[in-house]
Amino acid sequence: MGVDESSRRTFELLANETRLGIISALGEASGEGGYATLAFSELQEATGVEDNGHFNYHLQELVGEFVEDREDGYALTLAGIRAYQAIVTRQSKTSVRIDPFDLGGECDSCGGDREAWYKNGRAYLACKSCGEREIRYPVSSTQIDPEEPESVLDALDARLRRDYHSMFNGLCPYCTGPVVTSIQQSSGHWEETDMRSGELLVHAACKECGWFLYANLAAALRSKEPVQEFYLHRGVDLWAEHVMTTEIDWIVDSMDRDPVRVCGHFNCGGDRLDVEVDENFGVIDYTVREEDG
Ligand SMILES: [Zn+2]
Ligand SMILES: [Zn+2]
Repeated sequence: MGVDESSRRTFELLANETRLGIISALGEASGEGGYATLAFSELQEATGVEDNGHFNYHLQELVGEFVEDREDGYALTLAGIRAYQAIVTRQSKTSVRIDPFDLGGECDSCGGDREAWYKNGRAYLACKSCGEREIRYPVSSTQIDPEEPESVLDALDARLRRDYHSMFNGLCPYCTGPVVTSIQQSSGHWEETDMRSGELLVHAACKECGWFLYANLAAALRSKEPVQEFYLHRGVDLWAEHVMTTEIDWIVDSMDRDPVRVCGHFNCGGDRLDVEVDENFGVIDYTVREEDG
């Protein structure tokens, strides 16, 4: 994808302290009810620029693209809100860091102890003994309490739920672009994430911004309706547990490569749900088998 003249101009517009200050001031003035509209003088005061001419020059540069000039004052446009979100994300990327702590459970590969940590804006889950990684995913540090290491797990869970739900339903949570999903086992993809190999994963990628994620098939299937229904009718709340846990029992029964078909089942209270998915992670068939049926 080439970068055109107007994209360059957009980024140049932002490369100025006063203009970023104006966007921040409008963002910060916004409350829970919506985004703020500030009168010229209010906005100038909030931005902290004393020189009228200087302030007005930069404000007018933003008008149109990032700031809307309304009858009652100035407000952020959608692009302005996006820019403000980028500023906030960047500012919150402080030095929050959580050292590895015990996670409980056993490594699927070697039976060793698992651990979790948080570094450079990402949460990690891995095996202490063999080093195999289960998850590496960005989580905002504003969701994490450095005094409570376990808060990483809740923050990661909240982020994964949102992203799984959105991505596996075809909508990128970051740019709202279309998402394509596929089932993968190829080892070529593991290096990007260091995730464990030999396991079936669902890969989801946004066609617009390139955001991608890999999820373990059992965890990804929880975003599918037949699976949610099956558990719901048996009194199990799939969301009561962290989405990255592997406690939900999914057993792969068969796998075909051409075309790709994966059949497996969930067990719950003696009942069984057979699910068949295709290469694009579409559920093509499912059957509920009751214990006494
Ligand atoms: Zn291990
Ligand atoms: Zn996207």
